Amino acid sequence: MGKKSKYQNLENEDDNNKTIKANYHFPQMVKMVFPEYGQTINRKKYKNIIWFQLLILIVMFSGVLIFSQGFLLTRRALENDNKCNLIKQGNLWNQKFNNITNSIQIEYNQSNVEETCWYPRRYKKAVILIIDALRFDFMNWEDDPKKIDPYYSNKLTVIHKLLTKQPNNSLQFLFKSDPPTTTMQRLKGLHTGTLPTFIDAGKNFAAESITEDNLIKKIVDNGKKIKFMGDDTWMGLFGDYLDEKSIPCDSLNVWDLYSVDNKIKENLFPSLRQKEKDWDVLVAHFLGVDHCGHRYNPSNEHMDSKLNEMNSVIENVIEEIDDDTLLVIFGDHGMSTEGDHGGESLDELNAGLFLYNKKGFFDENYNKKYFEEFLKELKPIEIETENEAFRTIPQIDYASTLALLLGLPIPFQNIGTIIPELFWYPSPYGNNEKIEANILQNIMEALRINTFQIQNFVDTYYESNKKTRDLYNERYEILEKRLNMFIENHKEGKFDDDIEELKSIILEYISYNRQTLHSFRQVWATFNVPLFTFGFIILILAIICEIIYISSEHNVVEFNLTHHFWFPVGCGSIFTLLIDYGIFDKVVKSLFNVVITFEPYQMILGGFSFGACVGYIISYIIKSNGRKSIINHLKSVIYDNTFELFPLILIFGHGFLMNSDSYIIYEDSITQYVLQSFGIYLIYRAFLQQLPQVRNKMITYSVIFMVLIRISSYYDLCRVEKTGKCKTTFKTSIPNYFLFFVSLAFFPYILKKIMKENFHNASKYIIKYLIPCGLILAAIYWGIDTLEELNGISKNLEFLINMKFNVARYGYTIIPILSLGVWAFFPITFDSKVEPSKNMSKNILNFYGIKNHLGSSYLLFLAIIIMSIIQVSKPISSLNIVLCFCSFMCVMEIFALEKECQELMNSAETLWNSKPREEKKILLEKSSEELLNEVSKKGGSSNPNSNAVIENADPNKYIYTFKTKNGSYMRISHKEMLDISYKNISSSFNVPLSYVTLTSFLTLHIFFRTSHQATLQSIDWSLAFIGQKELNFVKAGFNLILNILSGPIIGCFFVPLLVFWKQETTNNNEKPMVKSISKAFIKYSLAYSVSQVFSIISAGNHKRHLMLWSVFAPRYMIGGITLCFIPLLCLVATFIIIIMVRGVNKHLKKIEEVNNKLSINK
Ligand SMILES: [Zn+2]
Ligand SMILES: [Zn+2]
Repeated sequence: MGKKSKYQNLENEDDNNKTIKANYHFPQMVKMVFPEYGQTINRKKYKNIIWFQLLILIVMFSGVLIFSQGFLLTRRALENDNKCNLIKQGNLWNQKFNNITNSIQIEYNQSNVEETCWYPRRYKKAVILIIDALRFDFMNWEDDPKKIDPYYSNKLTVIHKLLTKQPNNSLQFLFKSDPPTTTMQRLKGLHTGTLPTFIDAGKNFAAESITEDNLIKKIVDNGKKIKFMGDDTWMGLFGDYLDEKSIPCDSLNVWDLYSVDNKIKENLFPSLRQKEKDWDVLVAHFLGVDHCGHRYNPSNEHMDSKLNEMNSVIENVIEEIDDDTLLVIFGDHGMSTEGDHGGESLDELNAGLFLYNKKGFFDENYNKKYFEEFLKELKPIEIETENEAFRTIPQIDYASTLALLLGLPIPFQNIGTIIPELFWYPSPYGNNEKIEANILQNIMEALRINTFQIQNFVDTYYESNKKTRDLYNERYEILEKRLNMFIENHKEGKFDDDIEELKSIILEYISYNRQTLHSFRQVWATFNVPLFTFGFIILILAIICEIIYISSEHNVVEFNLTHHFWFPVGCGSIFTLLIDYGIFDKVVKSLFNVVITFEPYQMILGGFSFGACVGYIISYIIKSNGRKSIINHLKSVIYDNTFELFPLILIFGHGFLMNSDSYIIYEDSITQYVLQSFGIYLIYRAFLQQLPQVRNKMITYSVIFMVLIRISSYYDLCRVEKTGKCKTTFKTSIPNYFLFFVSLAFFPYILKKIMKENFHNASKYIIKYLIPCGLILAAIYWGIDTLEELNGISKNLEFLINMKFNVARYGYTIIPILSLGVWAFFPITFDSKVEPSKNMSKNILNFYGIKNHLGSSYLLFLAIIIMSIIQVSKPISSLNIVLCFCSFMCVMEIFALEKECQELMNSAETLWNSKPREEKKILLEKSSEELLNEVSKKGGSSNPNSNAVIENADPNKYIYTFKTKNGSYMRISHKEMLDISYKNISSSFNVPLSYVTLTSFLTLHIFFRTSHQATLQSIDWSLAFIGQKELNFVKAGFNLILNILSGPIIGCFFVPLLVFWKQETTNNNEKPMVKSISKAFIKYSLAYSVSQVFSIISAGNHKRHLMLWSVFAPRYMIGGITLCFIPLLCLVATFIIIIMVRGVNKHLKKIEEVNNKLSINK
């Protein structure tokens, strides 16, 4: 295309044009006089953007907060540790409790700690066989022939045999698990004696290892040895406590039914047969039954052989153990009829528990009838009582029971109760005649320790909540008072005549424990459905408000404080009061029959947000007078310049599909395909343009865009769900570091290339010096980091580690702050010089790079932010950030081209319409002839509509043919075309929804391609430590935010560039510009928020879904965080723009003053 030659004539007309000529393909109006800007830019206009953004920020924040309060079950994980000296062992009359109110230090003799801890131990050793997914009916003997399944019923014959032949030595229970029924959560629950929740908000909730007090820790801390074999989930959870002799086996291969179990069997029996045993507690975790369920289903011949195998294992183990060993066999959860687990169906919750001891659990002379009577009275107190034949025991009881039986302290957070059957033997301290009295004394002693421990935990947990704490304390004191009275009455320790009193005290203690468990279940494991529904109603209202804002004509410029601010704020306040006085609650209760209880801050935030949104909608309805105008406004969202249905379908389609778990799992690839199809859409848009030069350039940029997206999609971080189908390519390696290095070198180069017309002042300093400096620091830091991770750093290179630390500590702070400082004080990217004109008659003030100075200045800011993000991102993530930055630049150029073409076409049409009718007629006839001649001379196509530009065409002769808006054709000569100025800037300021939607998908793309996924495991916590030796929460938070939210940060800060880039700014168009910036922000917020709000709603919808905690909940968390951050970032960006415009104005004023002085002097 001979574009340069084409404009030669025009450029010769005035030589001051020369500074601009290379830049633009279409003639610009050149201002010979001082530009109009700089005189009175009214910053109030920018302020008006802030109000609405602030409102959206508050509403989004409260929506997310209130939803989370109702949805996220959080339990504070306390790191306290129960030690031996908390309780001094003894009988009811001399036992000492060392709690806060009664702080006696109990001294323990180190040598006999294991013998005397809390409670006299019953068993010296324990063998624990965990058969993963052993459902209760796999263990239980079935007599009813109708219920017998040929493959899994009555296979564990040894258990049935023991229960019938040695009833004193064997116990069977239905072992009820708490959901979620996954192995890891179950093991956590079983060994801490508490309820696992999704987030155990503690010191390091990301790591899977248990930091809370647990049974395994108690065993090891008290000098006992534990030997473990089987499922390697254990190593992740308890790895710090298990010794090297443990034999973990890979648990991931679900298809493998035998190798884990065989390996256990190889090691189990030798360990049991050892003369000098190297263990006190032996744990074997079998996986075959679980894997058989996953691979086939429970009712399958493989299950038959697997259970038979387990049966013989149990038989052999029983032969090997001695009298002092307790044998425990249980399933950590059940399995559904399909063989899976994780959910809350009865089949998944009901596991089996079997206990066996050769000595016997009950004293031979015990009164069986009395015992059965006792259990009967216990039943109403217990929570689960569904099985008549066997008692139901919650799995939470395991930790406390086992701890006391082995003579260990109970883990600190335990809220389970000891299983009374296992304590049905006379107290070692007992001196009553009746054996029942001694047995009851034994239970009382164990139970009192148990209850004291629970009370101690409650006291600590509710330390800051005095009201709840006092409530528990009061009830506990009543219990203790009654027991103390009983002790007072029987000072000698004899109470044969009063055993019924002790029995009823025992039942009361158990009842207290169970009530505590029940209320903690309420707090930790029950969704507050009305509250979270209220949360997402607020979010949906926020989206409606955004749509109204975009569609309503009367925004920002004609900013109406009443409509946009006071009315919503007023409604919000009234609503808060309504909730405060309980009126809202009553209305909701009578209408929907649901009760909402609010905490004070929920009331204020939620009430205000709800009211403000409703207020905004009402004020819109009042203002728009009539349904017709509302429909028109909504139409304008869809038809904004061009047809915008495509982006709307994408936004809402993406949102609705958030309801599917596999859609969320594959969201990264879906985002990539959406972006590729956007590339096609941009090409389609290119073909809508009538100027071939614009069209060709747009197509080129679109293709580059698609290629960049494809390359960046190569890098993938796989979700667990995609194992086997995907390969993680984010790895530390030398080639990857090399690629990173190349991209670092490329970044300033591309910046310089994009800004070549504006490479003056600030951009020169920043692009030439500061940004390369920052990137070199990043290269050094990640270079050393790569070396360290790959080979480790040898002794003589240790100074490198110090260097890495200092680079991050000082360099990472100084360079970004310095760059931002330079930019904020001097955001000038144009140059002005007083030069003699060509005929030397006078001096003229020339501006270089004035047209795009706001755009380039803003881009400079974005570049500094990207540099800071690169510093805290791992090499491959940085590479992808640079690639995505380039795709952003393509989008920006494409839009600038489209805008330019649009403006030109508008001007051409105005010109054409202003021509007298006669002239038009002549032109239409004459020009087509001329054009045909011209084309045939060149031997090209003779189509007059092709608008092909012919080299060296005479600008007076060559004529363009364009389609006007009403469908007819207009003919404009080349000369006229070149003369059309940009005087009448029109609606082309408006950023179409499609570009903003594209930006929002690119935002998501950055998130996925910088080694993130919507899972908690994907967060790289090591980044928090960049530049610090000890964790500083502010810095760590800053690093993590820059890293995790790099997508929203870049995307949000990019949005104003769509408006600024290559857009001349004079006072006349300042107003529409502010308007379109604020609209663009809200459009972006809408495009990005819809899918995030839907991700939240789908998490709420699927609260009983199997994949809730692995798929929906993490996606909602990411969505929730970005929902709050997007309006916040929009606000920040607005302030940045204000700083920039202010800096530019100051500078222009200075030039103006100098200029005035010069002209006066002349
Ligand atoms: Zn399991
Ligand atoms: Zn499983």
